[in-house]
Amino acid sequence: MHELGIVFHIVKTVENIAVENQVSKVGKVVLQIGEVSTIIPSYLVDCWNWKCSKSVLMEGCELEIETIPAITFCEDCGETYSTVQHGKICPYCSSACTYLVQGNEHEIKEIEVC
Ligand SMILES: [Zn+2]
Repeated sequence: MHELGIVFHIVKTVENIAVENQVSKVGKVVLQIGEVSTIIPSYLVDCWNWKCSKSVLMEGCELEIETIPAITFCEDCGETYSTVQHGKICPYCSSACTYLVQGNEHEIKEIEVC
């Protein structure tokens, strides 16, 4: 249940940005979530709605979630490939010397003001 911690962090970040820009109401936040992150979007939305109901700035704020595709890079042949399809083994050269380039992160993409 780390979704709650993530929501607290995002709401805090958005509130700080809103205050800095003298915004009194945030209407929508677009959040990008990596394909292989362990975040469960439906939990995230539940936590979001609860947290926003307690914030003057964020009350009724909509959360839109976009998925970032997971990509793995192979150190041996230099190719990149879809992590979800192939996992840790490179489909080009069968090497296991691979690492995740993107897909495990979450970040705020857009903040819309009412
Ligand atoms: Zn390879």
